[in-house]
Amino acid sequence: MRSPRLFLIPLLLSSLLLIMAACNAPEVQQKQSDPLEPYYPAFHKEALPADFDFESTPRYNLTLRVDPDARRVTGVQQVHFRNLSGIVMSDIYLRLYPNLPQLGGLMKVSAVRTLPDRYAVGFVPDVENTAVRVTLINELDSGQEQDLEVEFEIIAPKKDGYVLFGDSQDILTLPYAYPMLARQTGNPANPWRLEIPPTFADIALTDQAFYSVTVSLPADYTIVTTGVEMAQADANEPGWVDHRFVTGPAREWTMVVSDRLEKLSQMVEGDVINNYYLPQDEYAGKSAMAYSAAVMRVYHRLFSPYAYTELDVTEAPTRYLGMEFPKLNYIGVDVYRDVTNSQEILIAHEISHQWWYALVGSDPYRYPWLDEGLAEHSSLLYMETLYGQEVADRIRVQRWRIPVKWVQDNGYDVPVGQEVTAFDSTNYEILVYAKSALFFDSLYQEMGRDRYLDVLHAFIERYRFKTPTPQNFLDIVTEVGGIDPMPLYEKWIEGTEPVSEE
Ligand SMILES: [Zn+2]
Repeated sequence: MRSPRLFLIPLLLSSLLLIMAACNAPEVQQKQSDPLEPYYPAFHKEALPADFDFESTPRYNLTLRVDPDARRVTGVQQVHFRNLSGIVMSDIYLRLYPNLPQLGGLMKVSAVRTLPDRYAVGFVPDVENTAVRVTLINELDSGQEQDLEVEFEIIAPKKDGYVLFGDSQDILTLPYAYPMLARQTGNPANPWRLEIPPTFADIALTDQAFYSVTVSLPADYTIVTTGVEMAQADANEPGWVDHRFVTGPAREWTMVVSDRLEKLSQMVEGDVINNYYLPQDEYAGKSAMAYSAAVMRVYHRLFSPYAYTELDVTEAPTRYLGMEFPKLNYIGVDVYRDVTNSQEILIAHEISHQWWYALVGSDPYRYPWLDEGLAEHSSLLYMETLYGQEVADRIRVQRWRIPVKWVQDNGYDVPVGQEVTAFDSTNYEILVYAKSALFFDSLYQEMGRDRYLDVLHAFIERYRFKTPTPQNFLDIVTEVGGIDPMPLYEKWIEGTEPVSEE
């Protein structure tokens, strides 16, 4: 009885190996040809929707040299682009946002070539020097792809006070520091989004893209970015280091450079959370680390798992209370240091933009209220989860109702559901943040917590890594939330009905 069985083993083994080889072969082949492979370290595969269109998603390959003393960035960018306009296209627009007066930088493109042939092509400044229009030698059919190589240089400003872009308080912040493809509309009559954002509003109008970036920097400098660092190596220049990063699908690339920032790290739900702070703010840094971890735990549970594998929260010299980028949040120095009062709720607001901006996008020019209202209301959900209803009620009154009533009493109220140009620096933040938060809160109160969260889950499930409109959200409220959102929408978003303080 023993020997025949033993005799069978080699046969069984060899057939097993054959079966394994057959099973493995297509998988290995598929793995090698998976174009997303280089980017997986930066994001969770499962976060991508099944219909994600990689071929239509731009890819940037950036080689940057950042000289912090001179506040100069020199770069070569290869960018892969697909014409989604539905028409034949001869011009491509790249935005030079550092030239916006509110950023105060100086950005110049010095050469543009088509790839792989490396033909130099013409380009001219446009849109008040916040863009260059690149004219292709060969027109691009609808759906056709084109690779461009762009050489550029940026000088960032230095200021004593606050900067969103530039050097202040020992931190050099460099958002928008490459020629960003303008957002395509898909509308043949008007294929590009080329608006100039007002000084008080969010800036970048972009599409999702993948980034592979190498930054050369003096060795004693720390760099914080929207990417995950893959490697460091000695640069060609003595005393300089090359840092290599990749991103997941990201609506923009951003970096912060400093020779003073300290770092704390913690794992939360399997992802790395980093906090960066100036040495004199060590206590605030520890507090920000603890709050960031708590916020990530709560949102992971309330909304969905985080899409990226790392999150950075950094102290930044911005006048804004905070600023969101994919995988990276700036917290303005004043709020960062205000540990006992505003630090926690602001961290909750900013980190929620990793869901309401980075993951589920919105149009910051046409519907700035959509992601800001959701972010504001998310900070209430976080505070209520940890501290209960009394704290939530205080947020409703002090953070939202009293400021909105002030705006109304002083004659600054306008409907919230308008594009950024309908506001000014007096009423923008209160209406776009607080009044729209009251809209989401009215839905929350009418539907109850469970159904409201079901609505958010459906919104994430359907629109992750996409850019939905307010109507897409309202449709989900009707379908999943089971209520007609229009009376509340008309009151809070379209109307100017007086608000009480209670
Ligand atoms: Zn916000």
